[in-house]
Amino acid sequence: MSDRLNSAQLMELENKYGAHNYHPLPVVLSKGEGVYVWDVEGKKYFDFLSAYSAVNQGHCHPRIVGALVDQARTLELTSRAFYNDCLGPYEKFITGYFGYDKVLPMNTGAEGVETAIKLCRKWAYKVKGVPENEARIVVCENNFHGRTSSIISFSTDPVARREYGPYMPGFIIIPYNDLDALAKALEDPNVAGFLVEPIQGEAGVYVPDEGYLKNASEVCKSRNVLFIADEVQTGIARTGKMLACDWEEVRPDILILGKALSGGVYPVSAVLADDPIMLTIQPGEHGSTFGGNPVASKVGVVALTVVKDENLADRAHEMGLIFREEMKKIESHMIEIVRGKGLLNAIVIKPMNGKTAWDVCLKMAENGLLAKPTHDHIIRFAPPLVITEGQLKEAIEIIKQSILSFSA
Ligand code: PLP
Repeated sequence: MSDRLNSAQLMELENKYGAHNYHPLPVVLSKGEGVYVWDVEGKKYFDFLSAYSAVNQGHCHPRIVGALVDQARTLELTSRAFYNDCLGPYEKFITGYFGYDKVLPMNTGAEGVETAIKLCRKWAYKVKGVPENEARIVVCENNFHGRTSSIISFSTDPVARREYGPYMPGFIIIPYNDLDALAKALEDPNVAGFLVEPIQGEAGVYVPDEGYLKNASEVCKSRNVLFIADEVQTGIARTGKMLACDWEEVRPDILILGKALSGGVYPVSAVLADDPIMLTIQPGEHGSTFGGNPVASKVGVVALTVVKDENLADRAHEMGLIFREEMKKIESHMIEIVRGKGLLNAIVIKPMNGKTAWDVCLKMAENGLLAKPTHDHIIRFAPPLVITEGQLKEAIEIIKQSILSFSA
């Protein structure tokens, strides 16, 4: 095996030949199974990032991988120039699963958000009667909806938007978790939609006050404004319900899903809405070569079936309660706040003796657990939802010992 490259060599290749648009932890992974990943030297880790919640069903889930391989061997891609024998059954399945009339399949989360924006604007002109080019969409401070030029136009993160202008107009930014600000913004008759993350994941797992989503959706309804939920990160059982909006019995007018829609084996995203909204888009107006392809369709059905068969929402809820309770018991001045819902959690780290969230993540990696800081001082903890109580307790011990090693 002397021709196999080691971690240092592989990192050097990425550094030398890849764009420097990420700052990964210095760990090179080569295998995954369930809640575990292994690096090229064979060291085993708990994966507490789950590819930003794409791997809710666990790494290399045999049923999902089986669907992928079978379909890839049979028919991989037709484009939407023709029908294929997988898309219709998938569309019937996913619309039934989430309770919508129609789905528009895409590939990445950002494409899902772009689709929702276009759909909302189209609805504004064709149904709501907003004068052309005047439609506006309300979004929240500290949002994260992806990386396209339009999406970063309404980001408030300077790192995401600086020097990428000129920016796409038509967005109104209000504080998150602020119903008064929303009500005020919706006084503008040209507002067509409110785009919101039910929990702000990338911002650092900000959970809004109870009732926020319910009240926000009601204000939207009263103003004939579409409530658009970006559940790319929070959806598909991550927060302890199938959708984070389910916690408040909110049914979004437009629902955006991605990531775990494929269990992480393939880029699959989807936008769901009812006919009066979805049918405003006409043939030729929107699409994607890969969206709704046979492999994605088959993978989507199985990935969602696994979530129900394995009861992952309930498991996320139960394991999340244990996780937060145990984190709160750790006696360290480094832990400022523990927050989250289900298995989407975060700890806000107060730097101590020059040691930051990054150092904590390095220490945890050394001890066999992978997590990543977001915004310098916050560590997100989001393991695959298939984690057992025994595995969770083991992982909690690693986190605890890693943090305590700095405060001692
Ligand atoms: N929306 C939310 C809420 C996300 O968390 C993300 C990614 O983290 C996206 C959209 C973008 O998804 P993708 O990276 O697949 O484009």
